[in-house]
Amino acid sequence: AETLNVERIREDFPILEREFDGTQLVYLDNAATTHTPEPVVETITDYYRTYNANVHRGIHQLSQEASIAYEEAHDRVAEFIGASGGREEIVFTKNTTESMNLVAYAWGLNELGPGDEVVLTEMEHHASLVTWQQIAKRTGAECKYIPITDEGRLDMEAADELITDDTKMVSVVHVSNTLGTINPVSELADVAHDHGAYIFVDGAQSVPNRPVDVEAIDADFLAFSGHKMAGPTGIGVLYGKRHILEGMEPYLYGGEMILKVDFEDSTWNELPWKYEAGTPVICQGIALASACDYLDDIGMERIERHEAELAAYAYDRLREHDDVEVYGPPGDDRGGLVAFNLEGVHAHDLSSILNDSAVAVRAGDHCTQPLHDVLGATASARASFYIYNTRAEVDRLVEAVDDARQLFA
Ligand code: PMP
Repeated sequence: AETLNVERIREDFPILEREFDGTQLVYLDNAATTHTPEPVVETITDYYRTYNANVHRGIHQLSQEASIAYEEAHDRVAEFIGASGGREEIVFTKNTTESMNLVAYAWGLNELGPGDEVVLTEMEHHASLVTWQQIAKRTGAECKYIPITDEGRLDMEAADELITDDTKMVSVVHVSNTLGTINPVSELADVAHDHGAYIFVDGAQSVPNRPVDVEAIDADFLAFSGHKMAGPTGIGVLYGKRHILEGMEPYLYGGEMILKVDFEDSTWNELPWKYEAGTPVICQGIALASACDYLDDIGMERIERHEAELAAYAYDRLREHDDVEVYGPPGDDRGGLVAFNLEGVHAHDLSSILNDSAVAVRAGDHCTQPLHDVLGATASARASFYIYNTRAEVDRLVEAVDDARQLFA
C-alpha cells in the first residue's frame, strides 16, 4: 500500500499528463528538478496579477504587500527546517550552488590560509567540491576527502582521522545525489565542533525529501534549492547560525544590503538583508514558502517513507538481472534515487532508449565526476523519485531497461 494518496497528488501536476507519441510520461528525474503543483503555480500568478512590486523601500501599498509576503517567506522557510532564529538565519539566493559560493567567498576567502584544511567527502557534488577546491587554491588551504566504503557509505573511521584541529570547515552532502547514501551529518557535526570547525550541510537532496531539522543536526550552514522541492527555479536558501552570519563579510555589494553609505565607506543592513544585494528573488521566495506549505500538508515523514519504498522497489527490480549494477547502499537504506548501469550499454544510449518509452531519467556524471572515478564508471543512469511517482512507473522503467537489453543483446 502506498503511504501517500498519489492519485490525489497527481491531480496537482498537470505536466504529468503529457504524452509522447501516445505514451504517458514517466518522470524520474526529480533529483535534477521536481515539478510545480497547482497551488504553487497559483501563488506565482497571484503575485504577478495582484501585488507585484519591488520590496523594502516602497511606501506605496503594493510594495508594502510584496515586502510583507517576501519577508514572511523567510520565516516560513525557517520554520520548515527548524531554524528558531527565523528570517535572520535564512538568506535567499539563486540556488544551492550560490549558497555555497556565498559562504566560500564571504567566510572562506577571509578566514582560510596556509595550514588550514577543508574536509569534504568523495561523494560531494561539484557545487561544493569545485567551490572549496578553488577557494583553497586562492587561500593556500588544503582540501581533504573522506573516502567511501565499498557499499558507498562514508568511512567514519577515516573521517575521525581526517578531521583535526587544522580543519576549519567540514562540507558534506546530506543525501548523495548519485549514491543515495544518507550521511550521518549530526555525528559529523559533533566531530567538526570538537575540533573547532564549522560544518556546512548540502541539503539539496534531503530538505525536499525528508524532515530536516538544522538545530537537531547542529549544522552551522545548510543549503538547498527551491526547484527540487516543488518550488520554482531561481531560488535557493542559505541557512546560517545567526552569530556566524553576523560575523561574516557580505558576498555581494550594492543596494538593499547597506545601512548607510557615503563616498568613503558603507555599513551593512541587518540580517538577512546584508546578504541579499539588489532586487531579490521576490516572487520565487514567496512561491518557495508556498511549496513549504504544500509539502508540510502532505507531511515530510510520509514523503520520506514513500520515496524510500519506491527506491527499495526500484533497487530490487533493477537487480533482478545481474547485468545491472546499482551504485550505493542497499535498497532499504537510501534516499529516493537509484543510479545504475546496464552492462555493455553507455548510460547516454540507455537513457535515450528509455526516452523512446517516455521514461525520463538522467544520464551522465550527475555533477560528481570524482565520485564516478572512484566507482570506476564514466557515467551512470539515474532514476529519482518524488511524491507523485508510483510503483507502476518503476515497472515502466524496468520494462524500458529490458527493451535496451534486448536491443543491445
Ligand atoms: N548538491 C546536490 C547534492 C545536488 O543534487 C545539487 C543539484 N543537482 C546541487 C548541490 C546543486 O543544486 P543547484 O543546481 O540547484 O545549485
